[in-house]
Amino acid sequence: MRKEDPISPCFTDVLALLQALSRDWQMKMVPLSGGADTYKGKYRAMARRKLIAGNWKMNGHLDSLRELHGIEKAAKSHPQVDVAICPPATLIAAAVARVPGLAIGAQDCHSADKGAHTGCLSAPMLREAGAHYVIVGHSERRADQGETDEDVRAKAEAAHRHGLTAIVCVGETEEERDAGTAEAVVTAQIAGSVPAGATAEWLIVAYEPVWAIGTGRVPTLDDVLAMHTAIRAKLVESIGDEAEGVRILYGGSMNGSNAAELLAVPNVDGGLVGGASLSTDKFVPIIEAGATLA
Ligand code: PEP
Repeated sequence: MRKEDPISPCFTDVLALLQALSRDWQMKMVPLSGGADTYKGKYRAMARRKLIAGNWKMNGHLDSLRELHGIEKAAKSHPQVDVAICPPATLIAAAVARVPGLAIGAQDCHSADKGAHTGCLSAPMLREAGAHYVIVGHSERRADQGETDEDVRAKAEAAHRHGLTAIVCVGETEEERDAGTAEAVVTAQIAGSVPAGATAEWLIVAYEPVWAIGTGRVPTLDDVLAMHTAIRAKLVESIGDEAEGVRILYGGSMNGSNAAELLAVPNVDGGLVGGASLSTDKFVPIIEAGATLA
């Protein structure tokens, strides 16, 4: 890992080759129902739309919603990418009313639909408030609330039961990366947190190295490539062919300056953005970077 993330010459060559190949695959696209099995995986991979999702965490009040107008406008100008904002739950209904053209998400849900769980919110409540997405298993919740992979999986299942798309977060700590266990940790989180039978329609994965969140540090592009490739392989093991369509977002200090190169890495299907999603000025360039690559 390093503080800045210049593209290594080796990565540039690999990326150029993969981009050329992907252009070729796009030209060969055939409908999935067309039975062109050889190209099925590649076609579906190319069909993944980028998602740029903002996570406001415990930030924002009613007056912060003014930032959403510019974000909604950018989302409408770039229909080739999906855009979502996950504000605190107190703002979901107000955000939906204020910017009906922008997808709104939540930052957590309980695994039960209702009951004696003071202070918690269920998936049906969030859906009723107008949310379309819900982040589950963010590392801050895994650390602060002690959420386990099993908890995260149950939350993702609850999201699905109520028509929400679950964004399941995984990521290693700095100690785990330094110990050389990052890939083992993350793939074990995938195995434990992704519900059996999940489909690309309602499951999104976000790879967020814990040490990159809010720190201004990002992994090298080679490391991002290696981890997203490993996550895709683990998803194939867990949910089979459906894994090809599941979007894998990168999260951790993404901003307007590094978004284009991060989003160009194969198997990076979008970004989960914390700090830079709080203002229109910082978030819109990330949407634009995603749109350029779409
Ligand atoms: C996050 O917490 O989901 C996140 C990616 O934060 P930041 O962009 O601020 O690193």
